[in-house]
Amino acid sequence: MSFYEDKFDQVLANIEKVRLRVNQHQIIKIIAVSKSVDAHAISSMYDIGQRAFGENKVQDLKIKVEALEELPLEWHFIGRLQSNKINHLIDLNPSLLHSCSCLEMAKEIDKRLEVKNKKMNVLLQINSANEQEKAGVTPENAQQIYEEILSTCKHIKLKGVMSIGAHSDDEKLIRKSFETTYKIFESLKNKDAKYCSMGMSNDYELAVECGANMLRLGSAFFK
Ligand SMILES: *Cc1c(COP(=O)(O)O)cnc(C)c1O
Repeated sequence: MSFYEDKFDQVLANIEKVRLRVNQHQIIKIIAVSKSVDAHAISSMYDIGQRAFGENKVQDLKIKVEALEELPLEWHFIGRLQSNKINHLIDLNPSLLHSCSCLEMAKEIDKRLEVKNKKMNVLLQINSANEQEKAGVTPENAQQIYEEILSTCKHIKLKGVMSIGAHSDDEKLIRKSFETTYKIFESLKNKDAKYCSMGMSNDYELAVECGANMLRLGSAFFK
């Protein structure tokens, strides 16, 4: 039995409880955020059925992609992306970049993709509680920037939005930040937005309640 099996089952049960109450037709995708663990831990999670993993540093992603090459894993990039790392990220063929945080970054990524004749699935990160320390576009500008990326960045396949819940002990504030993100996501559904990536180990049940269909969970599994 895998070391992670109990935790995994518990998290799935928690998600399922909310999901069935909110929308039983909603499929929820779990990204296991493996930034704090090594390839062995990832392989153990793979053994109990997890396929999608998330990293927040390009260098760590590269090490793990190479160490686990033989497994059919799906890699997500969720961290801040420096422009001198964009080419490295593209070369690792991530399945989804969650953290495109402004129009300039989208244009830069698009330029590099064009040179390499590649495409990339991308989410637009929204700073839904307007927090100084967080990356992402403001809720006010999100729709317009999303549409601008759609119309100008032909090598980016924009697939939805990502957000980190408000940094607060007040559940009301966290809920409000999720609702803000979900509203934007809804307004973009007719533009092919498929993923609303929000919810981490401390707030994933609330995120599901607010409409998240992609969760990024690290410590809930690996701590
Ligand atoms: C680390 C990280 C997560 C996972 O955080 P946990 O609280 O460990 O679940 C999710 N999203 C981003 C962007 C992260 O950096």
